[in-house]
Amino acid sequence: MTDSDGIPTITCLQAQENALALLGGELSDFEERQLHIHLANCDSCREQARQDIMVFHMLAACPAPVVAPDFNEKLFQRLAEEDEQTPIVNEAEIISERIDITASSPRSKRRPSSSFQQRTQE
Ligand SMILES: [Zn+2]
Repeated sequence: MTDSDGIPTITCLQAQENALALLGGELSDFEERQLHIHLANCDSCREQARQDIMVFHMLAACPAPVVAPDFNEKLFQRLAEEDEQTPIVNEAEIISERIDITASSPRSKRRPSSSFQQRTQE
């Protein structure tokens, strides 16, 4: 399908994607012309593009976040510490929590210490 200028028309989905691409400066002149033709004839896409532009300018006005100079060092240190933890312990904790949830009924009160003693005495 083409418009009166012989330019192929685009769908609303393509128009909304291209409107975002236009903000990032990623559209060719041809794609930009297609978009403007679509927006001139489609109220909903024009409104969506207006909101996208507003959000884009609001984000652009935000100051860039400042990262502490030792951010990378601390991040890699924490990642290394997490790697050192044994996953078996964590898995056991998860399993025991699941058992507690399924074993407890509304009438019975959970007594983890006494049930532990019973198990160890058997
Ligand atoms: Zn549209």
